[in-house]
Amino acid sequence: MDIHEHQAKDILAGFGVPVPKGLLAFSPEQAAFACRQLGGGACVVKAQIHSGGRGAAGGVKLCHSEEEVRTYAADLLGKTLVTTQTGAGGKTVHRLWIEEATDIAQEIYLGFVLDRKSERIMIVASGHGGMEIEVLAEKDPDSLVRMVIDPAAGLLEYQSRELAFKLGLTGAQVGQMATTLRACYRAYRDLDAMMVEINPLAVTGAGDLVALDAKMSFDTNALYRRPQVEAMRDQGQEDPRESMAADNGLAYVGLDGDIGCIINGAGLAMATMDMIKLAGGEPANFLDIGGGASPERVVTAFRTVLTDPKVSVILVNIFAGINRCDWIARGVVQAYREVGLTIPVIVRLSGTNVEEGREIIRSSGLPLISADTLAEAARTAVRARPTPVAAE
Ligand code: GDP
Ligand code: MN
Repeated sequence: MDIHEHQAKDILAGFGVPVPKGLLAFSPEQAAFACRQLGGGACVVKAQIHSGGRGAAGGVKLCHSEEEVRTYAADLLGKTLVTTQTGAGGKTVHRLWIEEATDIAQEIYLGFVLDRKSERIMIVASGHGGMEIEVLAEKDPDSLVRMVIDPAAGLLEYQSRELAFKLGLTGAQVGQMATTLRACYRAYRDLDAMMVEINPLAVTGAGDLVALDAKMSFDTNALYRRPQVEAMRDQGQEDPRESMAADNGLAYVGLDGDIGCIINGAGLAMATMDMIKLAGGEPANFLDIGGGASPERVVTAFRTVLTDPKVSVILVNIFAGINRCDWIARGVVQAYREVGLTIPVIVRLSGTNVEEGREIIRSSGLPLISADTLAEAARTAVRARPTPVAAE
């Protein structure tokens, strides 16, 4: 789960990261008021969306007066920003963060990520942070400093100092860097984060460190024990297909194709998507309905898949171990009737109570297409799509 920049700054400041003063605004009037509260001089207006790359997309602007803030805020609120990370649909700006301006001498990149290879939290840093960090990471990956943290010992003081020196920091900055690193590490560990990123961590003209941008994302499987984090969820920033699925406890990932998938088990779902591709099609989603799915759950899965207007055919693939084919079949029939389906539905059932399941499908009188094997199901789904009109 992602949160906004202002929320991440609030969390990190609580752990000891230095951040500039700022205020939230939902209207141009509030933005102007915020500017006045911050002294009425130069301030930065920042679009709050769940995406980086806002600077390059026009979502971050240095303003010099209250009037300028009001005008720019009016321009940004309600606007959809397309960044290098949002995809073509973009993300709509509903809130702004108004922050006192900082005099920047240097921009440092600082990231905490989960390194799957070492199974540890890893720090990634660069003395050349800011908006070009992706380019640098691609062209000169060795220039990034990497450091792995031992979970038993935690982040050690000498590691922080070593990192600070590698980034070219000196004097009081070394201690400030150690404080910032410790704070980020604790925030990551104590709140079940998956990622903490400060880019840029600025060195000011006066030589101090301050976090000008912050990003955090969290492990959704741990949200049950982090209600204060879950309260920061902003559904307005989520893919509507994915938030509906999350609300119903379904594991769903939206994709670009047109073959809707309802499958049990993550591994089988991955294999089914592979088979669809092999047959020349494109999946519209990943969806794992999980074990022991009731007919009602199957109906919810259908509704979720159908929130995507691109879906032109649905493939149900169930290997019932804990599940039961007759429950799934009843769910498919119920969904077909309740939702008023008009697109082809291919059903492949295997495992517990398969004969009962197939009989329910057969005797339903509905135009459901049965398939015996996964390969056949995938081929049938690809063929069942409305035929595209040839260009010539
Ligand atoms: P991002 O593009 O989504 O990562 O947004 P950032 O918050 O990182 O802003 C982009 C760029 O705007 C930064 O790299 C900075 O160069 C600049 N910027 C952000 N905040 C400030 C600020 O308070 N003062 C000044 N002068 N520049 C800022
Ligand atoms: Mn940034």
